[in-house]
Amino acid sequence: MLPESILREAQSEFFELSGSGMSLLEMSHRSPLYDEIHEGARARSKSVFEVPDEFEVLFIQGGAMLQFSMVPMNFLADDVSGAYVDSGAWASKALADARMYGEAYAAWDGSDVSPSRMPDQGEVEIRPDTRYLHVTSNETIGGVRMVEWPEVDIPLIGDMSSDYMSRPIPWDRFDLVYGGVQKNLGPAGMAVVFVRRSILEETSKHLGTYLRYDIHADNRSLFNTPPVFTIWMTGKMLSWIESEGGLAEMERRTNQRAAKVYDAIDSSGGYYTNPVAVRDRSLTNVVFNLANAELETRFVAQAAKNDLVNLKGHRSVGGVRASLYNAMPMAGVDALVAFMDDFQAGNV
Ligand SMILES: *Cc1c(COP(=O)(O)O)cnc(C)c1O
Repeated sequence: MLPESILREAQSEFFELSGSGMSLLEMSHRSPLYDEIHEGARARSKSVFEVPDEFEVLFIQGGAMLQFSMVPMNFLADDVSGAYVDSGAWASKALADARMYGEAYAAWDGSDVSPSRMPDQGEVEIRPDTRYLHVTSNETIGGVRMVEWPEVDIPLIGDMSSDYMSRPIPWDRFDLVYGGVQKNLGPAGMAVVFVRRSILEETSKHLGTYLRYDIHADNRSLFNTPPVFTIWMTGKMLSWIESEGGLAEMERRTNQRAAKVYDAIDSSGGYYTNPVAVRDRSLTNVVFNLANAELETRFVAQAAKNDLVNLKGHRSVGGVRASLYNAMPMAGVDALVAFMDDFQAGNV
């Protein structure tokens, strides 16, 4: 979701931007007017995410999935490998891509763990000569969140696509953090990547230029033509987050939204069930099941009739999934919870 105020603001500015005689979509990305938008979005990414100065922010097209390749391409070498917490569908994809470029292994495998959860401290096994440990802070499909960051003595790299801006990031533990913007920060079209500046000298230089983190950093993410519309909208979303109270307020809302839906599940007497260990329940993707697939289909269809849409679980797992990203208003959560009660009463 995007806040309605942003969509309307963009609509009013779309045809002609700031008396320039043209739309943003027609403008040179080297023009002063665009530069202001670009620099504003960059600065706000750092301030709203509360990122320390040691990090550079990059806007890179290709979404989070290009980062599945860029991370190993830039960080792996013949003498070092990449460790992955294989916590679910997205982590597995990241690991599979890393194996195309070098030595990568699962430092913890959660595929047969029930209920689903993240690793406990001490379960993550790091081999010698490992360059980084890749973690997925929130498994969007499984609805599992990493609550305790693994305590290992190598740098962490994090895919935070589905819980960006839902909680503070422990920057001192990370060398690189990335996320596609389309879930929590804007429309599709790029990833926001935060990279520790000191490691840019060590990243691989034997790559196509677009694939090098240092090139993006040296060129303020203007090495090639950037996705100007996505950056413009993301800048607006970051301003909105700022004006609503910033990270602390987003975290408070995240906790409140999730608590309401989990309360509805837990107080349903087993009518709704959640397959995740309580500690690791996702706060942004609440997944739940009903007694059988037929009832779940009816739930999703009836919800849609009540204007509650996009509740179908991912096609690989089925069930129901409520994605509660930053722009989701509390009224939307309240409507879902009320619907869950009504549906249960009418379908026993
Ligand atoms: C959505 C998602 C992705 C894929 O993002 P794209 O921007 O579509 O490439 C990767 N990782 C996680 C955790 C996601 O939720």
